[in-house]
Amino acid sequence: MSINKERLIKRNEAAETPKYWIRLTRMCNNNCVFCLDKFIQNGTSIDMKTIKCQLREGRKNGIKKLVLSGGEPTLHPDYLNIVKFAHDIGYDGIQTVSNGRMFAYRKFLQKAVDNGLTETTFSMHGHTKALYERQSGIKGSFQQALTGLINALKIKGLIVNLDIVINKVNYKFLEEIIRFYINMGVTEFDLLHMVPFGSAWENRKKVFYNPRYQLSYLHKAFALQNEFPWIYLWTNRLPAIYLEGFEELIQNPYKLKDEVRGRRRILENYLWKNRRMVCFGERCRYCFMDMFCQDLMTIKKTGRLESRPYPACLKLKKPRVRAYTWKNFDLDDFLDFFIDYRYYVKSFRCFDCRYHGSCSGMQINYIREHGFKVLKPFKTARKKVS
Ligand code: SF4
Ligand code: SF4
Repeated sequence: MSINKERLIKRNEAAETPKYWIRLTRMCNNNCVFCLDKFIQNGTSIDMKTIKCQLREGRKNGIKKLVLSGGEPTLHPDYLNIVKFAHDIGYDGIQTVSNGRMFAYRKFLQKAVDNGLTETTFSMHGHTKALYERQSGIKGSFQQALTGLINALKIKGLIVNLDIVINKVNYKFLEEIIRFYINMGVTEFDLLHMVPFGSAWENRKKVFYNPRYQLSYLHKAFALQNEFPWIYLWTNRLPAIYLEGFEELIQNPYKLKDEVRGRRRILENYLWKNRRMVCFGERCRYCFMDMFCQDLMTIKKTGRLESRPYPACLKLKKPRVRAYTWKNFDLDDFLDFFIDYRYYVKSFRCFDCRYHGSCSGMQINYIREHGFKVLKPFKTARKKVS
């Protein structure tokens, strides 16, 4: 896939538009094998007073795009009123991230749209009953979600897109899944990489797979972007190294800010109260935050971190060394420094390069713009045969 600069700009704009996420429930009518939320679910809904207060807070900060999430947000007994309230106080983009089963009830969906709902994101991890329900864990859930999706696609002006968590159960069918939904009229897909939290970690033997050895399946699915240029594929937390040849799909690194926001308490406790990060350990090598957490630990320990140098193969002028010191540490500020000067990525081809051990690759945005093809491995020195 060649890098389409115009699309890249549009992708960046979309990814960098601030969205205000709020949770409506701690419950769900599915039981997904990789659910990230499972251990904080207790069958309750967030009370209206708290929700209204949060919604006002978002608007006070000038945010106009809202994401209603859960658990399953549509199970909130006041869901329709929440959408209406959000619309009335000035949100002009109201999205629900949902398993979509409640939208099988046409009147419910229509009322949500009439109240201000502008976008629905359906979690559809399979395209057949067997594949879907092996992941959702609930009999009958596929038919209900599919009916919800059909209903949503019929509503003019409602934006409809899909989340697909790529995992051991479905990666071989990824292309088929996307084709199936393209044929139904879906044009936007977010392909999510597994992360080592919640049920996903608990069920890791069932759901984790090694993308490095399954790239042919993933790449066939990514190539659908060429066959159907009007669709939008996004990847979410998928390490860039798996996207050589599909660099347009590398996730905007500024999305890391959402990850940090979601773990802010754990990170701040570590930074300022010396509390161990509860998730630190075996999970880190599967985690999208790995490089960032490593850098946090280094700066806390050594007091200083410098920008990474450019790789030898790019033959670019040496960059000016930038440094970040513990003395002036601020988490958000440090994250910006990390993205610009430390978030570097490599190609699998780098593994054969003479400099592999000492080189970190190139800054992620440079690779998003120019592609991995600019990295040219140096031959390793041949061992002399005596
Ligand atoms: S990389 Fe960071 S966030 Fe991820 S599991 Fe390790 S400590 Fe936790
Ligand atoms: S090919 Fe890869 S490892 Fe070699 S110098 Fe370039 S970026 Fe570094």
